[in-house]
Amino acid sequence: MFVFCPKLFVILQHIFLIMQGLIFDIKRYAIHDGPGIRTTVFLKGCPLRCRWCHNPESQHLEPELMPQNRKLGDRTFVDNRTVGYTITPEALMKEIRKDHVFFEESGGGVTFSGGEPLLQAPFLLECLRRCKAENIHTCVDTAGAVHTPLLDEICQCTDTFLYDVKTAKEPTFKDYIGTPYSTVIDNLRRIAEAGTHIIARIPVIPGVNDSENEIDAIINLLAGIPQIHEVNLLPFHRTGADKYKRLGRTWDMGNTPNLKAEDLTSMQQRFVDAGFETKV
Ligand code: SF4
Repeated sequence: MFVFCPKLFVILQHIFLIMQGLIFDIKRYAIHDGPGIRTTVFLKGCPLRCRWCHNPESQHLEPELMPQNRKLGDRTFVDNRTVGYTITPEALMKEIRKDHVFFEESGGGVTFSGGEPLLQAPFLLECLRRCKAENIHTCVDTAGAVHTPLLDEICQCTDTFLYDVKTAKEPTFKDYIGTPYSTVIDNLRRIAEAGTHIIARIPVIPGVNDSENEIDAIINLLAGIPQIHEVNLLPFHRTGADKYKRLGRTWDMGNTPNLKAEDLTSMQQRFVDAGFETKV
């Protein structure tokens, strides 16, 4: 039986100079992942473990089984779907080019999301370079928790970073998300200093980062980074809960209810008052 070993995967890439990425989905016609109509490429692997992560199948840097109950007539059966597959930059570009007409019509492009795309920095950079060479607009949707010497080059080839700011308090980060918080802040500052456009994205999680204290801390952090003018508030939702069961993992958010856009009206106003263009 073939067993995927992430370390071996990286070592083999270096020895044989095979450039491949591990992705788990390509979503077409996305309208919430940056400007215009976008093709979102989901890279697999993330060093963080946000308790509310709605893509838990994105976290491990290896393909994994995520069984799904399906119905065929009266019969129910289990579809043992494997999540994650390798792809070369050239093969990915072929997929991306299929949507070129939508990018042109809508001012859209490609968004590299995850998981954490910076975890596969060489592959990400190669794909960004190819998109830039073909004038395709690029966004990188990142939580910034990976230190990579390629970050400056990635900045040069990226039009917009969608940068997750989950909290501005280190203890909250440690309790609910993982470590290291300092890398997230360092990377945010490095990207800002490089002059790349940044939109801050804040997943609003009841009981974690929705208190006055937490929001004040986030506003103070963002106010200290003059390159950030735009904030997206992302209401918590429970869509990942079922996936945890299917992966044999524990969903730690209990009965926390979904948030609706209107629940965030007063929070949105606080960001607006602080001078940020703010969308929910
Ligand atoms: S950073 Fe994103 S992909 Fe990683 S655990 Fe958190 S929500 Fe999931």
